[in-house]
Amino acid sequence: MFIVWGRKITRRALGYVADFCGVCRVPRAFRMTRLGSVGHVYYISFGEGKLVGHQRTCTSCGAFSDADLNAYAGVSKSSGSLESLKRETYPGLDAALEQRLALEVRMQAAPHLLSAEERLGLIFSPINLLSPKVEKHFATTHMDGGVALAIAGGIGLCFIVPAIGAAISSEYGPPGFLLGMALGFALLIWQLIAAGPRFMRKEILPLLAKSLAPVKPSEAEVDRALREFKQAGHKIGKKLTASQVIEAIRSPR
Ligand SMILES: [Zn+2]
Repeated sequence: MFIVWGRKITRRALGYVADFCGVCRVPRAFRMTRLGSVGHVYYISFGEGKLVGHQRTCTSCGAFSDADLNAYAGVSKSSGSLESLKRETYPGLDAALEQRLALEVRMQAAPHLLSAEERLGLIFSPINLLSPKVEKHFATTHMDGGVALAIAGGIGLCFIVPAIGAAISSEYGPPGFLLGMALGFALLIWQLIAAGPRFMRKEILPLLAKSLAPVKPSEAEVDRALREFKQAGHKIGKKLTASQVIEAIRSPR
């Protein structure tokens, strides 16, 4: 007998802070979470464990990133209005954002008059902010609707195919079961492979397209940005193509 033990990450919601969201392109309320590392035996653990960091998640778009808790004046128990949240957690936010918001105004007015560097920065920022969501998703196998249907379909095939086989000839029943099992397995593999692109299409592309739309990027600019992320080992650079992003910007959902 062996004992399953190790460490796991615990998460505890601390409350809300106000900050700028690079995906939404405006100040937003963020959920602040404490991340701890705790020992577990058979995945049972006690306490919140040793502090390993904090994470803030935009309450509007769901993009999350590491956060420095000391950068905020406090954490609010409720999100309330953005103005009161700003006062309570980040009173200097408007002043800190002056330059960034001025850039946003220039971008809204005439995106093509920005320098190449400014444009690339505006394209990089939301990709960078959505990257942790992509990394987290692909770190584990996920069961989405398609995979669940494939499992149900696979089990069904194990009954249906031998039944059809047996109806044709009694000899075909047993090999029919094996054929049904093989088909069901193929169905599952197909859906597991399709689940990745499905996640990118449903969870990442719409957000990225919405965030990039005001920048009006060219396919070459998006391609350059994605290539750099790919080279840096970010999965988001590998799982999306520039033409997919441009297409999603042109026909938003
Ligand atoms: Zn956001």
